[in-house]
Amino acid sequence: MKFPFLISLTVLVAAPFASAAEKPKKNAAPAAHKTVNWQSGVVLTFDDRFIDQWVKQIPLFKKYDAKVTFFVDHFHTLKPTQIKGLRKLKAAGHAIGCHGAKHRKAVDYVNKMGLDNYLKAEINPAVKLMTVAGLKPTSFAYPSSSRNTEIDRELLKTFRHIRGGTGMKPEQRMRDLKTIFVPVNEISKTGTLIGTGIDYAGTEKRPDYLVQIKDAMDHAKKRGEIVIFYAHNISENGPGHHLRPQALAEILAHAQHINLPTLTYDDLP
Ligand SMILES: [Zn+2]
Repeated sequence: MKFPFLISLTVLVAAPFASAAEKPKKNAAPAAHKTVNWQSGVVLTFDDRFIDQWVKQIPLFKKYDAKVTFFVDHFHTLKPTQIKGLRKLKAAGHAIGCHGAKHRKAVDYVNKMGLDNYLKAEINPAVKLMTVAGLKPTSFAYPSSSRNTEIDRELLKTFRHIRGGTGMKPEQRMRDLKTIFVPVNEISKTGTLIGTGIDYAGTEKRPDYLVQIKDAMDHAKKRGEIVIFYAHNISENGPGHHLRPQALAEILAHAQHINLPTLTYDDLP
């Protein structure tokens, strides 16, 4: 009788660990029926092809138990080592989204060539290649945040969520950018999520941004919302638009401090 009791006890004790270990697997599933067990969150996203630099930050993300989304363009030009890097990021629990085949501005292209040709040139080939590589995207980020509702509607047939963007005027507070916040119970019916850029946070270019970002995170936590951010490279000096690793660490530490979950696009219902 002693033995079966031991087994059932082991199962009971092991169960919470088993479900925690399964979490990354769940995140990767393209489920539209995601169960949501969080009340607020911060959605951090990084665009373009800074794969080597992103991979270098896997330990930093891990340190703060943080998961983010990387939106990749020009997938057809990636070297095998870069695709391996994306798989590494995905295996670490992050999401890989689509950022267009050739990083074309959607509105310009659609105006010139039509919506059908845009899908054929910019969306379908990228999704196909990513899917074949085992990185089927559930989400898309518009290059240069160039979008309109007509294109949104079409893209939401392929993606569960897409990302647009909004800038911030010098006199504005980040917490007052209404479009970057979405109440948790409205995420599933809000296909297009709007982010704001956080590159250069904490540098001379944007000295007050870290305070603003943390304040916006507090705001999301308090109101039961998600807040969406985007950046590009993660490095000290570029190349390209970048967020310094120290600034990223501060943002992730703040999320952990206020118990605000970091969510990937694959986590969103
Ligand atoms: Zn881009």
